[in-house]
Amino acid sequence: MTMDADDPADLRIGGYQPFSTVDFPDALCAVVFCQGCALRCDYCHNRELLDARRPGTIGWAAIGEHLESRRGLIDAVVFSGGEPLLQRALAPAARAVKAMGMKVGLHTAGASPARLASVLPCLDWVGFDLKAPFNAYAPLTGVDAGLKTKEALDILSRAGVPFEARTTVWPAFHTIDSLVEMAQVAHAAGASRYALQQARDPATRRPLACDVFFDAAQADAVRRAHPNVILRAA
Ligand code: SF4
Repeated sequence: MTMDADDPADLRIGGYQPFSTVDFPDALCAVVFCQGCALRCDYCHNRELLDARRPGTIGWAAIGEHLESRRGLIDAVVFSGGEPLLQRALAPAARAVKAMGMKVGLHTAGASPARLASVLPCLDWVGFDLKAPFNAYAPLTGVDAGLKTKEALDILSRAGVPFEARTTVWPAFHTIDSLVEMAQVAHAAGASRYALQQARDPATRRPLACDVFFDAAQADAVRRAHPNVILRAA
């Protein structure tokens, strides 16, 4: 018995990006933005994707058609969001991509450890959000999701699927100590890379000044906690 539906057509999709060079390492990919998210991060700029009851704006059939027409040109499909793990149809959609001969990537904050475990056999790479130290999720995300995130990260770590851990740096919240702590967690879990991502102001879309991006001593402190840290400017 499986916990997932069999039909990728059930996937509620809030957006689709046909080509991206930055969402899967060293691959040209398409990105499927799944509708719905359990978190409410202060810096979220995908607010139209948050409501899990909202119907999708594009059907799987149209995406499948596009992917079929790009066979040999697109290397991978990344399921992003929102939070893809909220939807039962993620696994059949991932299998459909595999059947087309493309790699499958996932961007997730680990909202459903059980669903992550069920979809992992289909995954070639994961971008895993570490929002905050596990005991400090609620003030930033509105949800006390730290333990669930830790459970999902443990599952990912044991699976051996390559992954990047990433944190969007919200200057009003993250201290250098919290970034170092998350870099240590990422290293212990086996993340091949720890990325610090510069946040944008959700209202103006302007990049926010984050000390770690401009203060070499702070960046070095994070680098001492993980051997492969990148600073991803907005
Ligand atoms: S996890 Fe992503 S989509 Fe969900 S609220 Fe946070 S930033 Fe927005």
